[in-house]
Amino acid sequence: MLKVKDLNVYYGTAHVLEEVSLEVEEREMVAVLGANGAGKSTLLKTISGLVRPQSGSIEFQGRDITLLRPDEIVALGITQCPEGRHLFPEMSVYKNLLVGAYIFRRDKNKIARLLSSVYEIFPILRERKEQMAGTLSGGEQQMLAIARALMSEPKLLMLDEMSLGLAPKVVENLFKIIQEINGRGITIILVEQNAAKALATSKRVYVMESGKIAVAGDSLDLSKDPKIRSAYLGI
Ligand code: ATP
Repeated sequence: MLKVKDLNVYYGTAHVLEEVSLEVEEREMVAVLGANGAGKSTLLKTISGLVRPQSGSIEFQGRDITLLRPDEIVALGITQCPEGRHLFPEMSVYKNLLVGAYIFRRDKNKIARLLSSVYEIFPILRERKEQMAGTLSGGEQQMLAIARALMSEPKLLMLDEMSLGLAPKVVENLFKIIQEINGRGITIILVEQNAAKALATSKRVYVMESGKIAVAGDSLDLSKDPKIRSAYLGI
């Protein structure tokens, strides 16, 4: 579904992504792990068209999207749920969800269908739909950020650090929900600091170090690898 090939990205003179290649199959859940500053968010932003690569290519469902605009990339079916959520805190849950469906703004029936589908996945958001987003708990805000991403009807959903700063029970629940979303046929790229949960939930994993893919493989195999266990799982 997604083929990223030999991407090089610079911020000024800093070489932040170096010859990064990655592939994701349709319906897969793939994790991207790595320390702070390894380049994970930059990789997602480059796929989304928010950061331009110096060289390399990105292909989505057979189409070269390397130089498309972010809105064109969303319209093709790739949506990023950003680190830090970036909700509109003084707008209601409902209005935040509408923002996610901006590309369908002229299609009221489609928006109604998408709303009912995200409320089915996140019933708490239906209960809280008139509440201001900024007054939700951290876990509910993360749910809203994921739900807003789903309002653009993605084929590929990229989640950046969804579990950051949340209590273990809340994280557990979020991972169950993303498995359900994946089960509905949505392909997922999961950038995570929580390596244990990410390895347990994903099928394959890429580990980034200083802007490069250091290791790639099957999540189950890598979770048994002594190097990965000591570097990322603290075992
Ligand atoms: P984190 O989990 O801490 O966000 P990351 O693996 O997602 O880490 P990136 O955010 O992609 O890493 O950052 C990669 C490198 O690029 C870091 O050295 C960071 O300081 C730098 N960087 C990120 N954004 C910018 C920017 N807009 N301008 C300049 N440098 C940046």
